[in-house]
Formats: sequence, C-alpha cells, structure tokens
Amino acid sequence: MPEAVLEQAAAEMLDWHGSGMGVMEMSHRGKAFMAIAEQAERDLRTLLAIPAHFKVLFSQGGALAHNAMVPLNLAGRRPARAMDFVLTGSWSQKSAKEAARYGEARIAASAADTGFTTLPDPATWRLSADASYVHLCSNETIHGVEFHTLPDLAALGSDAPLVIDFSSHVLSRPIDWSRVGLAFGGAQKNIGPAGLTIIVVREDLLGHALPICPSVFDYRALADADSLLNTPPTYAIYVAGLTFQWLLAQREGALTGVAAMEVRNIAKAQLLYDAIDGSSLYVNRVDPACRSRMNIPFFLRGDDGAPLQDPAHPRNAAFLRGAEARGLLQLKGHKSVGGMRASLYNAMPMAGVEALVDYLRDFERNA
Ligand SMILES: *Cc1c(COP(=O)(O)O)cnc(C)c1O
Repeated sequence: MPEAVLEQAAAEMLDWHGSGMGVMEMSHRGKAFMAIAEQAERDLRTLLAIPAHFKVLFSQGGALAHNAMVPLNLAGRRPARAMDFVLTGSWSQKSAKEAARYGEARIAASAADTGFTTLPDPATWRLSADASYVHLCSNETIHGVEFHTLPDLAALGSDAPLVIDFSSHVLSRPIDWSRVGLAFGGAQKNIGPAGLTIIVVREDLLGHALPICPSVFDYRALADADSLLNTPPTYAIYVAGLTFQWLLAQREGALTGVAAMEVRNIAKAQLLYDAIDGSSLYVNRVDPACRSRMNIPFFLRGDDGAPLQDPAHPRNAAFLRGAEARGLLQLKGHKSVGGMRASLYNAMPMAGVEALVDYLRDFERNA
C-alpha cells in the first residue's frame, strides 16, 4: 500500500470529511458512501481508460470465487458451454479446474512442459469455434510470467471474448480494451485491502448467467444495481478509492497515472532482473520475453550451481534471515515453486528495489 494512502485512511478513520462518522460506520446506501463509491469507479475508469460500453462491478469473494462466477455468468453464452483455457501457471490452472465444474473447460495451450517459464505462442493455441470465452491469467503471480501484449483473438480466427485474471498487475500498465471482454481481479495485491473484487465487463456479455448462479454474483443484476445488490465491501472500496487518487497524482516526466506507473515499474523490474542476471549466485528461469514486472521469482544456487528450491536449505535460510534484518520482508517464494520471490507492486518505491539489489550484492560477496 502507498504510505500516503494508509496515512490518509488513518487520519479519516474516526471522522470522514466532517461527517461525524468513519466510513465503516456509514450506511452503504447513504449519500456519503454512494459518493465515495461513485468517485472510486470514476477514477478507476479514468486510470484504465475503460470505455463506456464496459461495466465496472465491485464484488466480493476474491478472484477464486470469480473463477466460478465467470463461467456461471459467461459459459451459457453458447449451447456447448465450452471455454478455452491457456495454462501459463498456477492461477490459470486453478481457473480451468474450477470452470470444469460448470461447463466444458478445454485446454487451448499449456506451458506446463517448460515448468511455466514461457508463454505458449498464440499462433499455436487450439481455439474452439463454439467456445463461450477464452481465459488467460495476464500475470502469473507465482511463476512470474506476464503477457506484455494481450492476444488479438479475432486475428487468431476466434470470435470468443477474452477473459483475463489481472489480479496481480492491475493498474501497473495500460490495458487494450479492444482485446478484452471481461477482466477480473482481487484488489489485495495492487489496489487495497482484501475483500474487494473488481470486474470490468463488456456490456453485451451480460445476461447469460446459468440458473444456478448465486443471485448476488449475477453480473447482469450486479451491474443493474450499480454493485449495490447487497452490502458491498465498503471500507475496501473506500481505501481502493484513495489508492486511485494517489495513482492519478503520480507523475513521471510528462506522464501521469498508470502510464507513469508503467515507466516506474519497467525501471524497477529492470534493476532487479539485471542484478539477478549479472550474478553467478542468483537465477531467474523465466524467458526474458515474458518476465513479470510485478512478481520476480529467483533462486540462489547451491555449490554445484543447481537452483536451491527448499526454503529450509541453510543458504536460503541465511539469505532470508539477513534480508529480514535489513527490513526486506516476505521474500520467501511460493511453496509450490520454492526459492525466493520479490513482488514489486505499484506501491513499492524504487528505493525499496535498490535496497534489495544492494542486499543481493552484499550477500553474494559474503556467500
Ligand atoms: C492472488 C491471486 C488470486 C487469488 O485471489 P483471491 O482473491 O485470494 O481469491 C487469483 N489470481 C491471481 C492471478 C492472483 O495473483
């Protein structure tokens, strides 16, 4: 979280703008909260240049709940209830597995054979003519693989809409909405507190919910009710709104907002990748063409040069202890991959990455 956002939330916690109450105490249908939610949506639309024919929905359940809600809302667009999945890491695998409960989840492509260190070339995807949509995870948080351009499905001969899980890189870069039908993500990585899930959906895709879709997660009904079918995650929406304002105020040269963040994120990631690639102790195995700017997994090598996966290995344990002593926290890799992972979300300043790079060099010198 940007420190300025946390400070503002703290300052306004007991009394929001002289209203005599904090945001957590407000009625979600009262004037004050409605103004907060409307401003948040407006700012998100501005930041991501979301076209008018897309709806912005504030929901709950996290991205994993929406791994079910997306098929429950979209699979019924076509009689086959088929969906094409591009498997590029843990999150897209999870999405495909969940979707298979509600329709026919087909695997259009998979990078499993490379240990999810590459992205399958779109020209090789097996897209089906009767699919209700094509799903991909635009940034694989655990494997550190990112789509730097979204595929143009029409050019690949598919007329299905593209669904993206953008949980872990939303607002880190602009989005080409001409290639997207629906984007969804949990807010807790790059936006605000856990509990808010954001869905951006093209209006013509609404209205196909399967009868078993829970009413509060029916995207058409949610859109018609301006995301107020029931009590939304009010405090999370408020803090997300503060983050949106913070983002709008960010500048890099002549650029502002998400364009400014992108420049900053490219520079932050480059600094860390260069340090890893330039060392003989650290290694990142992801194809440079699709390396994530947000999540950078890396391994320390053992004396035989092989990457050390086990976090309990003495060298890994010493690395993590030394990092913690410098205030460099949460560097342990995801348990399914092992090693280390640095997450350079929007709120991580360049100085934080510089501190990590300094530590990498110092640790290597002493190893
Ligand atoms: C973290 C993450 C999720 C999990 O989302 P929850 O909000 O915990 O359900 C899903 N997809 C991606 C890409 C993630 O990074």
